[in-house]
Amino acid sequence: MSEDNHEDKKGAKHKAAMQKQKSNVDAQIEAADTERGVAILITGNGKGKTSSAFGMVMRALGYDMKVGVVQFIKGQQLSGEEIYLRDHCPQVDFYQMGTGFTWDTQDRSGDIAAAKKTWAIVIPMLQDPSYDLVILDELTYMIAFDYLPESEIITAIKQRPREQSVVVTGRGGGTALQDVMDTVSEVKEIRHAYNNGIKARRGVDY
Ligand code: ATP
Ligand code: MG
Repeated sequence: MSEDNHEDKKGAKHKAAMQKQKSNVDAQIEAADTERGVAILITGNGKGKTSSAFGMVMRALGYDMKVGVVQFIKGQQLSGEEIYLRDHCPQVDFYQMGTGFTWDTQDRSGDIAAAKKTWAIVIPMLQDPSYDLVILDELTYMIAFDYLPESEIITAIKQRPREQSVVVTGRGGGTALQDVMDTVSEVKEIRHAYNNGIKARRGVDY
């Protein structure tokens, strides 16, 4: 077969496959007729959960939406997203658990107090229809460590305003939480640079 002929065949096959895919996608778009906010869980061991959530923050800001971001773990260092939001996006309500919570505290009662204080900031957000998007970064750990009652978190997410979207991130979101979310994505680790001795990179990892 000549090279041209081969390319023609590949082109026709590709076109047929794309047409089929388009009609499948179009049918799904047609069938989706519910307009409301979505609850999204980004979990799994791979890199990309928090950065995905901040990608949605950027999308929402593009439409001048009101955004709340609450981070349930205080990083040892500032993150680029925190610096940017604090300096350039006063319209974003940004909170971090603070009060010394890190992996190093090993102070369960102190951590629980910090978690409860932070959750008290989340509750009114999840009741306020003026928030279009609420990010609850690393919330899954609060459930995993039993720092906050899972049932209360689930109820608050379920009862949030109809138009409000909420994004929860963190490893190990349990099945009860998964069940209440509209979209659940698991970021699977294939490899992480860290395992080859590459240091966490400013502007990429934090
Ligand atoms: P990111 O914030 O980059 O989207 P993440 O939210 O998915 O990452 P976390 O579990 O919250 O991941 O970890 C936060 C930090 O740890 C980030 O600096 C990230 O690059 C790094 N990290 C993520 N996954 C891994 C991994 N599998 N091994 C080592 N470090 C990781
Ligand atoms: Mg994260």
